[in-house]
Amino acid sequence: MSGISALLQTLARPEILALEPYSHAAWQPDRVRLHANEAPWRPAGDTSAAGLNLYPEPIAHELGRRLAALYEVDPAQLLVTRGSDEAIDLLSRIFLRAGRDAVLQTPPTFGMYKVAARIQGAQVIDAPLLREQDWRLDPARLLAAWVPEARLVYLCSPNNPTGNRLDDAALLQVCEALAGKAIVAMDEAYIEWSGAASFTRFLAHHPHLVILRTLSKAHALAGARCGALIAHPDIISLAARVIPPYAISQGTIESVLRALEPAALSGSRERLASLLGERRRLAEGLAALPEVGKVWPSDANFLMIDCHDPALLLRRAAAGGFILRDLTRQASLARSLRVSVGSPEHNRSLLRSLATP
Ligand SMILES: *Cc1c(COP(=O)(O)O)cnc(C)c1O
Repeated sequence: MSGISALLQTLARPEILALEPYSHAAWQPDRVRLHANEAPWRPAGDTSAAGLNLYPEPIAHELGRRLAALYEVDPAQLLVTRGSDEAIDLLSRIFLRAGRDAVLQTPPTFGMYKVAARIQGAQVIDAPLLREQDWRLDPARLLAAWVPEARLVYLCSPNNPTGNRLDDAALLQVCEALAGKAIVAMDEAYIEWSGAASFTRFLAHHPHLVILRTLSKAHALAGARCGALIAHPDIISLAARVIPPYAISQGTIESVLRALEPAALSGSRERLASLLGERRRLAEGLAALPEVGKVWPSDANFLMIDCHDPALLLRRAAAGGFILRDLTRQASLARSLRVSVGSPEHNRSLLRSLATP
């Protein structure tokens, strides 16, 4: 047995390994489709190229190839998903046996890892980041918390909501220590702002490594719901069996393909760079407010702040028409809020609102 098939025999749910996938209507775009019970007319207001009356491609291959080129991986290593949220859901369903398995995560972190695990009936084990050390990942602490039931380990870098990049050497140490033992899922939702190189460069040596990418943040496509699961081709074929057919809508396929045109991509790179300047100005403005105790360093498009009275700042923000993310219910974040870096105008106006008693 090859390394990956031994790994999947050990870690994937037997039901998924044995699953007979849904047999969808054949995809032959050159023929007239009288095999899928679609309507023969376009709906009102349909401006799509293909026609919204027709099912989209069962697996979005062209979009997959374009995303593979964007992320510099082989198309067989990538599955297009409805945002990273769906990739997280797929991982839970493939690898976690209800009532037996667990995920290991590093709070404070993205809430969907826990929710998806709970939906699947799995436990959640926490190995917190070190607040006193700027939310550093301690590989020894994480590995000590690992148990064989923890089949999925989530690492988020830059981390949401703390905003910091995790150290590559620490991430790699975790990845190497868990080879053959767990799936290590690296969530790179904010990597475009960090200047870090993607962990896709380690995929060839680590078949248990999975990378999550999204178009929701740096590509300004949150409304399109599009992301990518990047992994060994054998993991991708398992995920392709579990994802519903026609998961990616025609509207999403067409709008994401437009956003991946070279001119569009260079435009979004420029905006990315200008947002970094805006992040610095916003951080300085927030740090100057007497109610703000600390602005945490950020490698992402948001800032986490610690406040003397978070409720007061939330009220001032609301009075100016702004919503900030209240993090105060999380154990180590009792005084923290998260602020997305907005347009220059909105950032200035937010700072004025926060300074207005
Ligand atoms: C926003 C975010 C995502 C992206 O989710 P989508 O479903 O792709 O919109 C993934 N991971 C983290 C940590 C995020 O903050």
